[in-house]
Amino acid sequence: MKRLAILGSTGSIGTQALEVVAAHPELFEVEVLTAHSNADLLIKQARRFTPNAVVITDESKYETVRSAIKDIPVKVFTGASALNDLVQWDTVDMVLGAILGFAGLSSILSAIDAGKQIALANKETLVVAGELVMQRATQKKVHIIPVDSEHSAIFQCLVGENLDKIEKIILTASGGPFLGRKQNFLVNVKASHALQHPNWNMGAKISIDSATLMNKGLEIIEAKWLFGLENNQVEVVIHPQSIIHSMVQFVDGSIKAQMGVPDMKLPIQYALAFPHRINNNFKRFSFKEVSKLSFEEPDMKTFRNLALAREALNLGGNAPCILNAANEVVVHAFLQNKAGFLEMSDMIEKTMAKVAPIAQPTLEDYLQSDREARIYAAEFVKKSQLSIY
Ligand code: NDP
Ligand code: MG
Repeated sequence: MKRLAILGSTGSIGTQALEVVAAHPELFEVEVLTAHSNADLLIKQARRFTPNAVVITDESKYETVRSAIKDIPVKVFTGASALNDLVQWDTVDMVLGAILGFAGLSSILSAIDAGKQIALANKETLVVAGELVMQRATQKKVHIIPVDSEHSAIFQCLVGENLDKIEKIILTASGGPFLGRKQNFLVNVKASHALQHPNWNMGAKISIDSATLMNKGLEIIEAKWLFGLENNQVEVVIHPQSIIHSMVQFVDGSIKAQMGVPDMKLPIQYALAFPHRINNNFKRFSFKEVSKLSFEEPDMKTFRNLALAREALNLGGNAPCILNAANEVVVHAFLQNKAGFLEMSDMIEKTMAKVAPIAQPTLEDYLQSDREARIYAAEFVKKSQLSIY
């Protein structure tokens, strides 16, 4: 029996993780569930799974949650620091990091410090502070098992292999809803359109990141740290069908791929159950139904975020942290129709030029760079053509 803390249980990954847990009550027990402000869903989840504790980080929602479940033996906590404490509880075996964005970093570091197993969906944690996170994990002998589908694919391809026999990895990208589109079309697209991903049903922020290709940029950085690669060992190929979830090419030229229908429950289940592979009744891929798998080069001139993420990776230090903070701010603005689709890349680039580089940042440096970048990015959003009207 694995006892789980699911951080971000009310989100897209969190709710799918609870489906996996519910299908395998003999393997998993829910110890901690957390939400930011979705009190209603957290209350429902607390009643359904009766964890030892729940956290609602938005303090204004604490009383709502507490009073709604006072008849059941579930402890209720609030505030971001509660996350850092609860992940260290003796009764937690594994922490699923499914909080959105930079907000997920601190609780993952805390869980690593306590030697917990980590299943990591929150890619921003590795984008912001990958070097520091992986160093701490190595010190504490903690394995970080990826949940992101591409990284789960690579992880699965690497079972039984040596990391030093990797020639390169090939991350696949669906291309998102605007594959093949050019500037003249993209200049006018709105959030409602960008949210319609052709293959995956995900949270709002990552859906926009998929439409801009920033998601793939973040994933290059995530892959570098997870698998200890050089920057030029991570390639991206567009694969619109999202059947091959990623590939590893080894030093002898052999390529391994992991395939399946696009369904996040599979990589979630693989990470939660690792090192075991367990059964399920998810839809199976059929070679008879899909006759063509296609591949093409990403268009980095139109989708500039991918180039910006590469640049941040090559700059190193706090550059990916700045890129991530700016991206979180501009995506939030875009979702509220306060920034244009193409403008997002300009604002990220300008923010990267504003914040002072730090070659070997400490945790405090990352926090400071994140704060500064958010201030600059918010200023660029204010000046946006869309915000004026
Ligand atoms: P969602 O927006 O659907 O859910 C985010 C979760 O985090 C919610 O439970 C939310 O609570 C909580 N949360 C948001 N902000 C904070 C905060 N400041 N403090 C504490 N908790 C917070 O996101 P997704 O599930 O789509 O994504 C989660 C992570 O997983 C992201 O890093 C994403 O990149 C990654 N990922 C997601 C995939 C997907 O298919 N969705 C695929 C691969 C990776 P509340 O509901 O109360 O707001
Ligand atoms: Mg992914």
